This record gives sequence, C-alpha cells and structure tokens, in this order.
Amino acid sequence: TTLSVASILAESAVRHAERIAFHFAGTTVSYRELWDQTRAYAGALRARGIGRGDRVAMLVPNVPDFARVYYAVLSLGAIAVPVHLLFKADEIAHVLRDSDADLLVVAAPLLAEAMPAAAAAGVPAVTVLLPADAGVDLPRLEIEAAAAQPIARHESVGPLDAATILYTSGTTGTPKGAVGSHLSIVEQVHTTLIDAFDLRADDVVFGGLPLFHTFGQTAVMNIALRVGASVVLLPRFDPDQALALMVELGATVFTAVPTMYVGMLEAARRSDARPPLRYAVSGGAALPVAVLESFRAAFGADVHEGYGLTETAPTVSSNPLHEPIRPGTVGRALWGVDVAIADPEAEDAVALQDEPGALGEIVVRGHNLFKGYLGRADASAAAVVDGWFRTGDLGTYVDGVLTIVDRKKDMIVRSGYNVYPTEVEAVLARHPGIAVAAVFGVADEVRGQEVHAAVVAHEGTTLDADEVIAFVRDRLAAYKYPRVVHILPELPLGSSGKVLKRDLVAQFTPVH
Ligand code: ATP
Repeated sequence: TTLSVASILAESAVRHAERIAFHFAGTTVSYRELWDQTRAYAGALRARGIGRGDRVAMLVPNVPDFARVYYAVLSLGAIAVPVHLLFKADEIAHVLRDSDADLLVVAAPLLAEAMPAAAAAGVPAVTVLLPADAGVDLPRLEIEAAAAQPIARHESVGPLDAATILYTSGTTGTPKGAVGSHLSIVEQVHTTLIDAFDLRADDVVFGGLPLFHTFGQTAVMNIALRVGASVVLLPRFDPDQALALMVELGATVFTAVPTMYVGMLEAARRSDARPPLRYAVSGGAALPVAVLESFRAAFGADVHEGYGLTETAPTVSSNPLHEPIRPGTVGRALWGVDVAIADPEAEDAVALQDEPGALGEIVVRGHNLFKGYLGRADASAAAVVDGWFRTGDLGTYVDGVLTIVDRKKDMIVRSGYNVYPTEVEAVLARHPGIAVAAVFGVADEVRGQEVHAAVVAHEGTTLDADEVIAFVRDRLAAYKYPRVVHILPELPLGSSGKVLKRDLVAQFTPVH
C-alpha cells in the first residue's frame, strides 16, 4: 500500500508543482522544490542507513527544513520524532533514549542543548542550516544530500505502521511518546477536509503553531500541503509580525491557540490593516466566547473552535465551516471518530453514560487513535479501555455537539463544590481591562482548594484585584469566584502557546 504520510507531499508535488508550499522569511518554496529537496534529504538519510522502522529525532523550528526532514524520514518508512523546541539537554536526552533514536537531525540554532544530549544518549547527530562560517566541524545534511542519490519515490508502508512519535507537551506531567500511525494522520487529514474545513489550493494558511506539535503538524501543515495551499511560516510567534505578514501575503485562514488570538487582538489595536481571512480555527485550549466575539468584530471572520489531543492525531471535533458556529462548544465529531461520555470515577472500565446531557469524561474511538505510549504498556492500558481512549477531559455530548467543561485534573474542589476554571475564565475574559486570564486551584487547609486567578491587563490599562473579584462575584455563584487575584505582566506559556497552570499553582502555593 502507499497510504503514507509522505504521499501528502509526493502527490501535491505532481498536482501543484509550481504552487507555493511555504512563504518564509521573504522567500517562497514551491511544491516541486520542496519535494526535490525532500527526496535529496531522504537519499542522504538512506546513505546513513536509515530505513523502515528506524527512529529519527528532529529539532527543527518552523522553517521549510522542518517539512523536508519530516517527509524525508516518512518517505523512507522511518519514524519521525519531532522534539519540543524548548527542551533542555536532559529532556532531549530523555526523548532520544526513550524513543531509541537512530539519528538526531538538529537545526543550527538548537545545537547548544542538542549536542550534549546526543552525546549523552549516544545518538549520532547531523545538522541542517549550519552557516558556512559557523566554525564548527559537524556533519551537514545539505552536503550529504548533494552527494547522495535522491530517492525516486516514497517507500510503501502499512497503514498501521508507526509514522510519528510525539511526546505529549508536558503541560501536566512527564512527557510520554504517543505513537501515531500513517492511517491515523492520513485519515485525519481527509476527514478534517471533508467534514470540517474546505481548505483549497488558493488558500494561504498562517502557520504560527509549532510544527513539532500535532496541532501545527497535521491541522496546519499536513492538511494544507494535501490540497496544495500555501503555509506562511513564522518561527517565533509575534502578534504584530504575524498580523503584518498575514496582511502582506493575503492569509485566508488563521489557525491558532487561544493565547495567540488574544495576542492578535492586541496587535489589531495597534494596526488597522486586516488580512482577507475566510475563517479562523482555534484549538488546544478553551477559547473564551468573549475572545471569539472580539476577534469576529476586529477581523470579520468566524472562529471555528475544535477539540483535539496528541493521542487523536489531533482533531476529535470541530465547528464545521458549512454550519453556523456554536460559540462555547467544540462542535461535531469528525466522521469515523466516535465520541461518548463515561463515568469519570470508574477506573478499570469505561462506563458509558447515555442519559442526555450527562456530564462526564470524554472518551473517543476511531481511526485517528494513536497506537499507544512507547514502552509504557501500563499507561497505554490505562488510557485505552475497551477501544475507548480516555481523554482526561470533562464534557457533555448533546445532539452530536460536544462541549468541553474542563480537564479532569484542573477541576477545583472548593469546600466540596466543583469549580471549573474554564467557566470562570470565560467571565474574566468579559472584563474590559483583562487581556488574558487563568484560573487554578491552590491547596488550602480549610477549604481543600481555593480558587485563584492570574490575570494580565490590556496594554495601557491598570487592574485592581478587588474590583476584578467583585466583577466575577456579580456574575457567578458564590463558591466559584476567585478569592485571590494575581495581576501579572504575562502568563507562563508552553511553546505550543498554552498556559502552564502547573507553574502558576507552584508559584502561588504557600510553602510551609
Ligand atoms: P500533556 O498531555 O503533556 O498534559 P497537553 O494536555 O497540553 O499536555 P495536548 O495533546 O497538546 O497535550 O493537548 C490536549 C488537551 O488540550 C486536551 O486534553 C484538552 O484538555 C485541551 N484542549 C484541546 N482543545 C481544547 C478546546 N477546544 N477546549 C478546551 N480544551 C482543549
């Protein structure tokens, strides 16, 4: 069979040869160029002995070389292991060992953390994008590619062969390697295109999400390259730069996490120029309805919120383009992705709750499920029970529409009452002076947990903690409003742009 993720690029190189695959740093890369360079990289990797089933770790930022290396690895039937760009040497070494990597491909800017990690794990490394005058003597994939015979075509793989190992971003714990199959990714791309978004060859998609993460990798790159669209790459998301680029290049689709939406709204206060957006997509964390509304007012585009995880390749559901959006919900499950609500307390079995409106743990089954966590039979068995993947998220599923209430582990229990941070954050997002807010629970001797909020003011605005507390108190039941409000210059963000609540909890937990 040729159902390979690499066929996404290989086929588009034929159908859309002269179209622009990437806009990057004032230059463009056509589909033909991208595939030719990919085949050359694959030739060099093959000359290094990389083949079917081998694992190639990669530390490459959002530049065209990410795609070249990624599709080169997949073309050989090998497994791509994109590593989190913010990882330090010890964390990289953990990924190299845990994934049993055969090779590390590292982009020049990431050498300082990567090379000690490669040495510690005993994994050979090859560089990309190393300037000629870098003054270091390291192997270069570009030079090896020029000397090697490019591959003629991608290898055939089985649909359930592993394509990627993606380490869960670690917002909530130790990174585990989620193994994704070629089927999970290719089917995901096709069902997303049919059921959710009608992305077309003439679309220009803004690619500010990190490509090492499943959201950027598949919901932006794989789906855009499948249809011959162009992706605008920006290695480090900066809202003013993003807005300027989107205007200059005529971006028609914006796909981002909520904190990027907040950034774009701030940028839109500083500049009147607007890109010709057809629609926007949000995922990765809850999008407050107030942010969705402000974005529509400022950019004239609807935000289609979706829901997904690394383990589900990623999209589970989304507000489809062909229906009016349902703000505050994550829309309909993709075709072939079954969603159900289960009893969150049942540990060993999945006890489905079929009464309408039941609130419980969201479970998912379908072609998009991962194959398991690499080398963690116990964690895999706990995560997938009777074919259902337990997402760890709480929600409701009514008439085919999914609503996320919160992460199970983020739920705050204050004096026995359940408080869902997302609901409180949605109220804070309505405060005129607040740009972004995060609500979290802090251990409390009397109440078990206390509700805290960390808020960031809009530029040029001053906030008063008591006034913020009063604002929420007027709008929510007494047990829900935050008793403590921290006014911060910014929130701690992971590199996928999500708020690191774990860091906030640690920062504001009193030490005894
Ligand atoms: P880790 O798994 O290491 O804790 P992570 O949870 O951030 O990190 P991801 O796979 O990046 O791992 O994110 C998946 C999670 O993101 C989901 O379980 C859910 O909690 C959250 N999420 C995704 N989309 C939405 C959404 N639209 N609304 C609310 N939460 C969302």
